[in-house]
Formats: sequence, C-alpha cells, structure tokens
Amino acid sequence: MLIDAHCHLDHLGTAGAGEFLSHLSENNLEGVIVCGLDAHDWEFYADLTKQFPALKFCCGLYPLEISEHWERDLEQMRAFLPQAVGVGEIGLDFHGIFDTAHIAQMKLQMKVFERQLRLAQLYELPVVIHCRDAFFAIREILQYTRFDLKKVMFHCFVENLEAARWVTDNGGLLSYSGVITFKRFGHTHETAIATDLSQIVVETDSPYLTPAPFRGQQNFPTYVRYVAEKLAELKGIPFDACVRATTENAKRFFGF
Ligand SMILES: [Zn+2]
Repeated sequence: MLIDAHCHLDHLGTAGAGEFLSHLSENNLEGVIVCGLDAHDWEFYADLTKQFPALKFCCGLYPLEISEHWERDLEQMRAFLPQAVGVGEIGLDFHGIFDTAHIAQMKLQMKVFERQLRLAQLYELPVVIHCRDAFFAIREILQYTRFDLKKVMFHCFVENLEAARWVTDNGGLLSYSGVITFKRFGHTHETAIATDLSQIVVETDSPYLTPAPFRGQQNFPTYVRYVAEKLAELKGIPFDACVRATTENAKRFFGF
C-alpha cells in the first residue's frame, strides 16, 4: 500500500477529513503525511492524529504565512512538535520577489527558515522543504546550520540534476508530486531516472497539483497512485516495487 508523503487535508474540515481517513485501506493507502502551515492547521492535525493513527503530521511556518507575529507563532508551534513526525513545510519561496525591492521579505524568510531548522535539530526531527526559485539560498542555509541532509526531504522536487545530486549524495530525499505527469515539467523525469529509488518518495500535495489525467479537478491523496505509476514507468520497474520502496522510504524518513 502507498503512503502520500505530503499533502493537506484542512480544506476538508474535521468531518470530511475524518470520512476520508476512515477509508484509507480501501483506497490502497497505508498512511498520509500532512503538513500544517500555520497555527490553525497545527491544532487541527494534532486533534485528528489522536483519532486516526495512520495520519502523521508535520508542523511548520510556511514561508508565505510569515507575519510580524512569527516569533509568537514559532513559540506556539513548539507545543505541537513533541507529537509531530517532522518540521514542515518550511523553506523559501522567492517566486516573483527575487529582486531588490523585496530584500527585506527574502531576508525574513531566510531568518524564519533558519530558526525552524534549529528547532528541528533541537527536537531531533526531519524537515520537509518547500523550495520555489530559491534552491541556492536553501542549500547555503542548510550548509551553515550544519543540518544533517539525511533528515531533509525536498517536497515536490522540480530542481535540476545538479541540485538533485547534491541532495541525494548527502543522503537527502526527493519527493515527486503530480508535476512529473505534466508535460511542461519534463525535466523532472531526468532527475527521477537518475536518483536511486531508495531516496525517492511520492506525494500529491493535494488539494493542489492534481496529476494527469485529472488536471483541472480537485486533487486527493488517493491520486498518489498516478504519481507512483509515472515513477515506475520512468524507471522501468514494476508498479509494486515502486510502491514498496516509496512506502518504506517514507516510514524510514519519518520514523514510524
Ligand atoms: Zn504542501
């Protein structure tokens, strides 16, 4: 059975998420890893995991959710970390702001990212990274915080081969989403093929990034199957082998 290594369920509300989680095995899912992006999410997921052990959650302050209250938010986040399997999704999103007019904004994202890496080190948790138009800055921060790359997963990996090699040579994990089924992102095939299966997990990032053949519709964690199918096809391996490996990798990484 598959594990969706990264998604969001908060939009379903308590009843909808509960309904979905009650039918995981019928949908061939062994587990689901969700990432809470702000204080509202952390509380929502912490409550939900008490009822549904197949749901594991990460807490992080998403780069686009950073406000002037970020220090208070991180303080609040610490209360949830003992129950969490990771810190995430955290990182940098410089899409559309990589210019001199936004230096303060970029600096703040970097500061909050670094602080969350330190928290992950303190609580001995892995991190799930959101990286958009910011790979070099993320690499720099991971290096100077001496963050153990074996505890790093790049979610929705779309970087180039050189970046993939840097992550995986240092023991990190690449997570592929429905984007590998998009024609426009053909370059992700190259990194998926070049990366050893032991360093890959699959995700949906639902409700976003709906894979083919469902593009334009709402995404669901069950569609992780289409990501795994594409990955198996790209690597020329049986679907079952792809399922087994990615599930094992997710469990090993998040420690359950
Ligand atoms: Zn996400």
